[in-house]
Amino acid sequence: MKRIAILGSTGSIGQSALAVVDAHRDRLRVVGLAAGENAELLAEQIARYQPAIAAMATGKAIDRLIGTGVGAVTIGGTGRDGLVAVASHPDADVVLCASSGTEALEAVLAAIELGKTIALANKEVLVMAGGIVTEAATRRGVAILPVDSEHNAIHQCVHGRPAEDVRRLILTASGGPFRGRSAGELEAVSAVAALQHPTWRMGRKITIDSATLMNKGLEVIEAHWLFGVGADQIDVVIHPQSVVHSMVEFTDGSILAQFGVTDMRLPIQYAFSYPERWPAPLPPLDLVRAGRLDFDAPDTTAFPCLSLAYRALEAERSLPVVLNAANEIAVARFLEGRIGFTAIPQVIARAMDVHRPAEVSTLAAVRAVDAAARAHALDIARGLELKV
Ligand code: MG
Repeated sequence: MKRIAILGSTGSIGQSALAVVDAHRDRLRVVGLAAGENAELLAEQIARYQPAIAAMATGKAIDRLIGTGVGAVTIGGTGRDGLVAVASHPDADVVLCASSGTEALEAVLAAIELGKTIALANKEVLVMAGGIVTEAATRRGVAILPVDSEHNAIHQCVHGRPAEDVRRLILTASGGPFRGRSAGELEAVSAVAALQHPTWRMGRKITIDSATLMNKGLEVIEAHWLFGVGADQIDVVIHPQSVVHSMVEFTDGSILAQFGVTDMRLPIQYAFSYPERWPAPLPPLDLVRAGRLDFDAPDTTAFPCLSLAYRALEAERSLPVVLNAANEIAVARFLEGRIGFTAIPQVIARAMDVHRPAEVSTLAAVRAVDAAARAHALDIARGLELKV
């Protein structure tokens, strides 16, 4: 029996993870749940899975949770402390980090120090603090199993081979809803249009990141930390069908790919079952129906976020922190209708231009760069606001 703690249980990945638990009640047990603000759904999850500990983002949310008459569960606290309490629970063997943003950074590090396996669905944690997190995992002998579908695919293809055997990682990208559009055509796109992803159903922030290609940029940085390869060994190809989830080219020129249905239950179950493979209650991938598979080069003129991410990774040190912070601010302003779609990369580029990269070897240093970059990006975004 594997005992699971889930950070972000009411989000899209969290709900898929609980569906995986439902399919394997004989192998998986939920011992901790942390959620943001959705007290009603968390109350239902507590009633159904009876975890030992639960936490929410705010005191208000906890009050609403208690107001639902929730049963016997320890409340682990709020905010980052609550996430740490759930991730550190002594009964948890595997911690699934599926909360978005960077709130779970301390919780992931706490779980690593306690020797728990990390199933990582959150890419911001590695973009912000990849050096700190991977150093801690190596020192403690802890596995970080990627749930992000591309990295999960690469993990399956690499299959424990050393980094020296890998010539190149090839991340696939669907291209998002605006694939094929020019920079000029992207000026006037709305948040509603950007939230329509062609092949995956996901949360709002990651869906916008997919439309700008920043999601792929963050994944390039994530791949660097997970697999120990340089920026020059990570390529991105546009693959609109989302059938090939990513590929690995080995030193002999062979390329291995992982194919699968576009359903996050597959990579989540892989991380929960690893190193075993279990049957999954998913429809099989019908290759004949998929018909054809296309691969194209990404258009970095129309979608400059991808190039910005490579620039951040090549500079390393604190620049990826600035990239991530400015992106979160810009995406939030776009979703509020305050800035245009093409202003998102402008905010990030300007925030990166004025930042002088420094070493960030402690969590406090990361948090300080992050806070300064957010404040700065907000100033830049205000200067780019749409006139209504
Ligand atoms: Mg992905």
